[in-house]
Amino acid sequence: MKIKDIFAKKTVFSFEVFPPKNTSSIDVIFRTLDELGDLKPDFISVTFSAGGSGNSGLALDIAAKIREKGIIPVLHLPCINYTRSQIDETLELAKAQGIENILALRGDINPAIPPVEDFKHASDLITYLKNKGDFDIAGACYPEGHPDSDTIEDDVKNLKIKVNAGADHLITQLFFDNEYFYKFREMAAANGINVPIEAGIMPVVNKKQIERMVTTCGASLPGKFVKIMQKYENNPEALRDAGIAYAINQIVDLAANDVDGIHLYTMNNAYVARKISEAVSGIIEV
Ligand code: FAD
Repeated sequence: MKIKDIFAKKTVFSFEVFPPKNTSSIDVIFRTLDELGDLKPDFISVTFSAGGSGNSGLALDIAAKIREKGIIPVLHLPCINYTRSQIDETLELAKAQGIENILALRGDINPAIPPVEDFKHASDLITYLKNKGDFDIAGACYPEGHPDSDTIEDDVKNLKIKVNAGADHLITQLFFDNEYFYKFREMAAANGINVPIEAGIMPVVNKKQIERMVTTCGASLPGKFVKIMQKYENNPEALRDAGIAYAINQIVDLAANDVDGIHLYTMNNAYVARKISEAVSGIIEV
């Protein structure tokens, strides 16, 4: 089934997982997928390394496991470090697994890896994918603007190119202040972007995540978020519960404001995904 058809019927509720590092056993992620699958999200997406060396095997194995659970898998596909023939190879493997839904991405530019020039932007990959099969194609978007763009206005204009190329729907980068999402949604509509936009929500539930948020994530950290994190950073259980509660509050507010969908960055944490799913199950039909 294509994700775009689900948006036509309901508020989409989805999860994201990532392939484990080489040091971790595949059984761990498979057990997590069993638990996530029981929550019956509309789809589970699997991240894919932009590194060029590729973890396509693992990502595809995870996608196959998701399908086994009766859930729709969405394969992330970054292009900046891949040649056309490498993309073709992955697409063939994806088709063989019955994958119909792809999140087409550029990928972050790693200064240590000179980009392959076959695809410059996600929009180039989307144009390419359109001639490669009948895929449902998602694209990424950035409520606070992508860091490579000078202004959010420039970024939204480029997003329009991505949608014109054939993105059927969009998933946002994580954000902690819903006001950015609402302003971005208005700006997108004003630029003629009228595909569904799913809000990406990241529950911050441990200290490592807080540190990562502060140093690398471009998302603004609202005062109330910082206060909660500071208060509980040395109390793992309280921090976990506070992070879950913060994400639930964001989702309730987004649902009240007619969001098209919620994409939960699960960080492979089935406990957190379950707590949030249960809390919003009366609001977002799963
Ligand atoms: P693009 O859409 O190409 O945008 C990148 C920059 O170029 C922006 O500034 C944009 O405004 C500009 N631009 C876009 N199109 C054009 C154009 N046609 N002409 C001129 N300028 C243009 N990364 C991974 O490596 N693996 C993953 O699995 C992964 N999953 C992700 C999932 C989500 C939901 C999100 C939001 C991001 C994910 N990323 C992933 C990170 C993503 O690859 C990076 O944010 C990357 O820097 C940009 O990717 P993009 O597809 O948005 O790029």
